[in-house]
Amino acid sequence: MTAPAQYPIGTPGKAWGSVEKSTWLSRQIRLRSYADEVLARIELLRARFDVTQYGLIEYGDERFPLLAVRSRDWRDELPCVLVTGGVHGYETSGVHGALQFVEQRAADYAGRVNLLVAPCISPWAYERIHRWNADAIDPNRSFREGSPAQESAALMQLVAPLRDRFLVHVDLHETTDTDESEFGPALAARDGKEFEPHGIPDGFYVVGDDEDPQPEFQQAIIAAVAKVTHIAPADAKGEIIGSKVVGNGIINYALRNLGLCGSVTKARYRTTTEVYPDSPRATPEQCNAAQVAAVCAAIDFALARGG
Ligand SMILES: [Zn+2]
Repeated sequence: MTAPAQYPIGTPGKAWGSVEKSTWLSRQIRLRSYADEVLARIELLRARFDVTQYGLIEYGDERFPLLAVRSRDWRDELPCVLVTGGVHGYETSGVHGALQFVEQRAADYAGRVNLLVAPCISPWAYERIHRWNADAIDPNRSFREGSPAQESAALMQLVAPLRDRFLVHVDLHETTDTDESEFGPALAARDGKEFEPHGIPDGFYVVGDDEDPQPEFQQAIIAAVAKVTHIAPADAKGEIIGSKVVGNGIINYALRNLGLCGSVTKARYRTTTEVYPDSPRATPEQCNAAQVAAVCAAIDFALARGG
């Protein structure tokens, strides 16, 4: 074992200040276009869905409109379903899976549920293929009152009027090799802590809520996704990324305490998907299809159980 290399920014044991954060920011490079890859695709949905702008992310002279897609036949008596992608901008299949769900499968649920889809919550990070926003904040630890992340605050505001009316919320994520090669070490350096790797699981898994885990619901999603891509096995300790595996491909987190997007509604059925795009056994198409399968399985399960 060699000692892990020190993260190139900051002093070990000391949390970053503004100088370290601007050094970090200066190293972030724009690698893809939110306008071309996300907004252009949402524009095409306007023919069949209601598209609304729910916020505007501003960093320096950059502007990113935040768009949400809604069922056109919205009816107040129907249960609501929230699908969120790109809370972590680098997790590509979260964004493209949400868009693919709307394009290919949303029509199947017309007249049965009201759909609200926010496909790319953190667009600056989408373009940089990064986990944090430009303020070196993880939006997916920031879903709380007085959020320090404008991305999280905007989604909370969008959801607020409907918060009690959601039956389902699926938050689409990925676990990637860069979580341990870059983002984990960067987080530890930012907070002046030591980085502790857990290993990256090879396969798909879901994260339920410690406070209301809904194991049958999670299992139904795993069963549907297993037809598309392989499910992550538990490691030698019976864990996935440091959490106890409670069912095939299922772990639970304290969503609300951690300020995770999965706690943004009071939906009875909520889950966070984790696709593994770096697997030699998974293509980008499979990753997107796995996200779509997870969303459909979640809605199907909830509808079968009744609101
Ligand atoms: Zn994520």
